[in-house]
Amino acid sequence: MKDIKLASGAGKKRTRIQVGRLQVGLDFIVIAGPCSVEDETQTVEVAHAVKAAGANMLRGGAFKPRSSPYAFQGLGLKGLKILAKAKEETGLPIVSEALDTRDVVWMCDYVDVLQIGARNMQNFPLLKEVGKTRKPVLLKRGMNSTLSEWLNCAEYILNEGNADVILCERGIRTFETYTRNTLDLSAVPAIKELSHLPIIVDPAHGTGRISLIASMSLAAVAAGADGLIVEVHSNPKTALSDRDQTLTPLQFSEIVRQVRSLRSFMEGLN
Ligand code: PEP
Ligand code: MN
Repeated sequence: MKDIKLASGAGKKRTRIQVGRLQVGLDFIVIAGPCSVEDETQTVEVAHAVKAAGANMLRGGAFKPRSSPYAFQGLGLKGLKILAKAKEETGLPIVSEALDTRDVVWMCDYVDVLQIGARNMQNFPLLKEVGKTRKPVLLKRGMNSTLSEWLNCAEYILNEGNADVILCERGIRTFETYTRNTLDLSAVPAIKELSHLPIIVDPAHGTGRISLIASMSLAAVAAGADGLIVEVHSNPKTALSDRDQTLTPLQFSEIVRQVRSLRSFMEGLN
């Protein structure tokens, strides 16, 4: 970890990142919304539902990194405009993924947090580009990356002058096939030992299974995560991407209730 000058060091003052009224790294953050922005009705409806359930930010992909070129690729600019509308109606800050260096600057007019997806964790030109902005960056762990490789990617962003990096553990590839990925919850306390950056957990992409999200969300809180990001849709069966890991608003609201209650219990232990 010797070359990781800026991202390393749990001894440094812990980074807190202002997004809207909350500070990531201090307040427990719940980010929720559809995997993909599909249309305005769907997105605004989900935004209201997740807000009512206690979410702090709205997620939604306008640019989708799909395994197949024939799968839904996202609505692009139209999707970002829809997210802006959902923010106008609910006040929820927007988190959305940037796939291409050419989109980063103009995307900043529509989003509050730029997401770098697992597949692009080591896209160094993209990391440098988001590093030049003044938007917080949600940096997902690559599915085949070590903690050191991940922190080096955070270093690329910090080195460009953007100090606001939020790490996100979203599962890694192992020999197991029952789950979509293997959610590495030990990454949470390990990152806390190695770095001053906040870290949240994505139990949806981490497991790929609705039935496992509640327990992995609670486990993430117990491990000391600074927040969660999950996928919610009014009618998951019709979702254009990731329907097997997408919660209904009702399932989501029950998880938020449990997670917040465990978090307050844990704060009482300190
Ligand atoms: C997503 O958040 O929808 C996504 C594509 O996540 P990941 O990059 O972790 O696969
Ligand atoms: Mn998804």
